[in-house]
Amino acid sequence: PDPSLRPEKLPEDSDRALRPQGLEEFIGQHEARANLRVFIEAAKMRGEAMDHTLFHGPPGLGKTTLAQIMARELGVGFRMTSGPVLARPGDLAAILTNLEPRDVLFIDEIHRLSPVVEEVLYPAMEDFALDLVIGEGPAARTVRIDLQPFTLVGATTRLGLLTTPLRDRFGIPTRLQFYTEDELFEIVSRGARLLGVQADELGCREIARRARGTPRIAGRLLRRVVDFAMVEAGGKIDRVLADRALTRLGVDQLGLDGADRRYLLLLAENYGGGPVGVETIAAALSEPRDAIEEVIEPYLLQQGLIQRTPRGRMLAAKAWRHLGLDAPRPPGQ
Ligand code: ADP
Repeated sequence: PDPSLRPEKLPEDSDRALRPQGLEEFIGQHEARANLRVFIEAAKMRGEAMDHTLFHGPPGLGKTTLAQIMARELGVGFRMTSGPVLARPGDLAAILTNLEPRDVLFIDEIHRLSPVVEEVLYPAMEDFALDLVIGEGPAARTVRIDLQPFTLVGATTRLGLLTTPLRDRFGIPTRLQFYTEDELFEIVSRGARLLGVQADELGCREIARRARGTPRIAGRLLRRVVDFAMVEAGGKIDRVLADRALTRLGVDQLGLDGADRRYLLLLAENYGGGPVGVETIAAALSEPRDAIEEVIEPYLLQQGLIQRTPRGRMLAAKAWRHLGLDAPRPPGQ
C-alpha cells in the first residue's frame, strides 16, 4: 500500500500550509473545542498555566494541531517532543528546566515513554519540580529543583497503554473523534482555497467522502487530486476528475485503502469471516499488531465493517457487501 495515503505521520509531512492556526479556524470536534475554549480563557483570567491536557484518538485527527493552537491562544511558547525520542531521564529534565513560565510542552506518543523517564514527569506535573539524585550508593541524596509552571499536552493513539499514574495526572482528558463527511468537506474546501486551486462543490465532497474520517488524509488526497487535475484537466477539480484520481490512487468508494481491503479480504477468504485473533491477523498481513489496532481497525469498527468479539474480529454484513462477496450461511440453514 502507498504509505503516503496512510493516516500516520510522515517525516516529509508538508501540510503546514493547511494547518489551522486558531481555535476558530479548527473545524469539527465541537465538544472538545468548546471545552478547550473555556479552559483557555479561565487560565488566561487567572494568569496561570493551563491544566495538563491529554488528547487521545487515531492518528491524523488533529492532536498536534490542537496543542499548537492552545499555545497560540494562551500566548505562550510551544515545545514539542515525543515519547520514543526521550530515551533518558536527563533528556526530559533538560527540556523541563528550559521552559518559560506557562509554556506548553507537547509530548507525542506519550504511551511510549520509558518508565524511568515517566518517573521524572510525575513530580514535574504535580508540583512543578524535578527530583534529582546526586551521588551514588549510600552517599546518594535527592535534591529537589523547582520548575516554571507549565502545561503538559500529551497525545496518544492508545489510551489503554498509558499507566494509571500518568493518566490520572491529566486534568483535561479529551477524546478526538473521526470527522463527519460535512466537516471534511469544509476542510477540503478550505484547503483548496488555500492552495489556490479551482475545485467545485461535488469535487470537494468526493474527496471528503473518501478521506477515511481523517483530516490528514483529506489534505493528502487533495494534494494528489490537484496533481491529476493539473496534468489532465486544466487544473479544475470536479466530481468526475476526483473520482478517477482517487480510484487510480487505490482509494475505494468507502475511502478504504489497500491495507484496509487486505484486512477485510483476509478475514473473508481465509477465515470465513472470523472470529480471528488480532495476533493471527497481524502475522498473516505482516503488519505490526500496533498498526492494526491503532490505525486500521478503529475506522473499520467505526464504519461498522467489522466487530470486536471476545473470540476475535468478525466481518460484518456491510463488509461482505462491500467486497462483493456472499457471507457464508450459518450452519444448519
Ligand atoms: P495528529 O497529531 O492527531 O496525528 P495533526 O494535528 O498532525 O494530527 O493533524 C494532521 C493534519 O490534519 C494537520 O496538518 C492539519 O493540517 C490537518 N487538520 C487536523 N485537524 C484539522 C481540522 N480540524 N481542520 C483542518 N485541518 C485539520
